[in-house]
Amino acid sequence: MTDYEAVFKAAIDELRDEGRYRLFAELERRVGSFPAARHHGHGSVNVAGDVRWCPGGGEAADITIWCSNDYLGMGQSSMVIDAMKKALDHCGAGAGGTRNISGTHVYHRMLEEELADLHGKEAALLFTSGYIANEATLSTLARKLPNCVVFSDALNHASMISGIRNSGAEKAIFRHNDVAHLDQLMARYPKERPKLVAFESVYSMDGDIAPIAEICDVADKHGAMTYLDEVHAVGMYGPRGGGVAERDGVMDRITVIEGTLGKAFGVMGGYIAASTDLVDVVRSFAPGFIFTTALPPTICAGGLTSIRHLKQSQVERDEQQARAAALKRMLREAGLPVMPSVSHIVPLLVGDPRLCKQATDLLIERHMIYVQPINYPTVPRGTERLRLTPSPLHSELQMARLVDALKDVWQRLDIQQAA
Ligand SMILES: *Cc1c(COP(=O)(O)O)cnc(C)c1O
Repeated sequence: MTDYEAVFKAAIDELRDEGRYRLFAELERRVGSFPAARHHGHGSVNVAGDVRWCPGGGEAADITIWCSNDYLGMGQSSMVIDAMKKALDHCGAGAGGTRNISGTHVYHRMLEEELADLHGKEAALLFTSGYIANEATLSTLARKLPNCVVFSDALNHASMISGIRNSGAEKAIFRHNDVAHLDQLMARYPKERPKLVAFESVYSMDGDIAPIAEICDVADKHGAMTYLDEVHAVGMYGPRGGGVAERDGVMDRITVIEGTLGKAFGVMGGYIAASTDLVDVVRSFAPGFIFTTALPPTICAGGLTSIRHLKQSQVERDEQQARAAALKRMLREAGLPVMPSVSHIVPLLVGDPRLCKQATDLLIERHMIYVQPINYPTVPRGTERLRLTPSPLHSELQMARLVDALKDVWQRLDIQQAA
């Protein structure tokens, strides 16, 4: 007979042996103080054998968060919070079911209109997360297009890979951001065959940006549709926060733009923006949209407020870019191995999973700085890193403290200072 518990334990032991076991920090964010927060130690699960550090023998400590995807601090914005409170008092807590059962809330309609406008598309559709938006849309589109081939960037997010796989369609993987390779692969298929190119704008682990216009050129040449994940760009790029495609003036060349309300917009939920008919197909056929409870009015109201604000305010975007540029410069001057990045993401190479984990442990124990270690399979082995995300709310002083702390940790662990 199978010893089920032994199988599970062995799987976890293997992770631990490789230094890849995930411990979640228990953090208490408090309105008005971000990026400062309370840290209540690591791990809410019982992990025998793992050192669970808790400052002051179990007391919580004040720390600074340096790895949040609430990139612009909108999750703390009083405008967003007030809108959510109003929606809660006005409409109650939940959505009451799926859109099919409980109907489209007036907030769903307003938010979808706002999103369609943000991306210059006819229509938009909400999902409960960006992950579900990718999974549901890609699996449905590639299944509905007869004999479709999907061309997928090698570094695409897990949710896109899952959607493509679940469509059952043939898949070809092109080298990351390699337009010539994409062209080569597409040339192997007849022009009449339906094709879909799936890629991201900002790749959030390296901070590099796709050559969107060139990818569209190749897609046009071979008669392909384009699907762009702008999760790490919406709110942050383009004159209205429409993403890198807006910044580059190519939104109209993208068939489907996918985004999240959970990162720069500060709440949660995912969406696509595209033509009316395409959105109608996903609405009508995607199980990941149909068979799950819709976003509640509170979340929609928060997202709506955040999007409307960032459409007409450039301050947050400018400050975020200024902070990112300053931090990259400061790290370089300190001799720390900041990886090349053309976006707001600041990756710092460690190159070893154990050192990476030890570095983040030291950062919080000695310096009250919270950064999460990024290990395989999120990034390739040997490129383990810290991923820093400066926001408009990180001060000059906090940046200087971060750099000093990193210098100390690099010295203590004798991490190679390769640039
Ligand atoms: C985070 C992420 C998603 C998923 O978005 P959620 O709203 O967090 O589910 C999708 N694509 C990329 C590239 C992401 O990094």
